[in-house]
Amino acid sequence: MTTNISWTVEPDSSRMRARASIRVQQSVNEQIKCDVPNCEAKRRGISSFCKAHQNAHQDKGHPVLRMPRGEERRWMLAEGERMLEWLREKHGAVNVESWLRAAARRITASPSMAIPPRKIDRRMTQRTRAEIILAYFLHKRRGDPLTIIQLYLAAELYTRRMDKVFGPTVRNGFTNRVVGQMVARWAKVEEEREVYRVSVETMPSWANQEFRRHEDLVKVKDTYKPQTSVYKMLGKMVREILRKELLLSSVREYYDHLFVKGEA
Ligand SMILES: [Zn+2]
Repeated sequence: MTTNISWTVEPDSSRMRARASIRVQQSVNEQIKCDVPNCEAKRRGISSFCKAHQNAHQDKGHPVLRMPRGEERRWMLAEGERMLEWLREKHGAVNVESWLRAAARRITASPSMAIPPRKIDRRMTQRTRAEIILAYFLHKRRGDPLTIIQLYLAAELYTRRMDKVFGPTVRNGFTNRVVGQMVARWAKVEEEREVYRVSVETMPSWANQEFRRHEDLVKVKDTYKPQTSVYKMLGKMVREILRKELLLSSVREYYDHLFVKGEA
């Protein structure tokens, strides 16, 4: 009989030890200052940031940067274009085009993944939801995968220029978030469908008249609003492709060239 319970006791105690060790790590960590320069607050839990900066990191993908909008976004894309021009001069236009095309060919999603937004389920993995967005971009919006590659390279350069403080983990996470959100906007996962709306007249004009029932066909628009983690996953999928094609090292090369010239 005692052998029956022995295996339940062991995992519990090891779980308790694990919890205790996290608590110890937390209390040690919470004595250290937040990683954001000039922030005097103490870190929260096992994060490298204080509560406010950790929240910003989770919501916006970065403790201090935010999504480039309007003018900033145009600047980001224009700088990406300049970078590609420079790379074409340096490595030859034919070579650069073939690298870009090779990466673009790897951006694929099955047309069957473009399912109606109302069928997107919380239990689907982040990668599945990211693939649904990609399928909408490629098949429903007839998007060119090359624009995603160019966007990623521009965003990678943008993050490198804006963030000179944090390590690659924070930087890559932010680039992924920027790219994922922009691709999701281009993909516009939505569907219009017609449904019958039934309404009953509340006040008939005569007391002896029957309540009238109205049925009309109305258009309903279903949309899908992804969470930050899905945006990040979508960007990460593009990053995995670019890393194999070594195009990310071209961004570093261009950045170093700017830095030497003192423009960065
Ligand atoms: Zn802070």
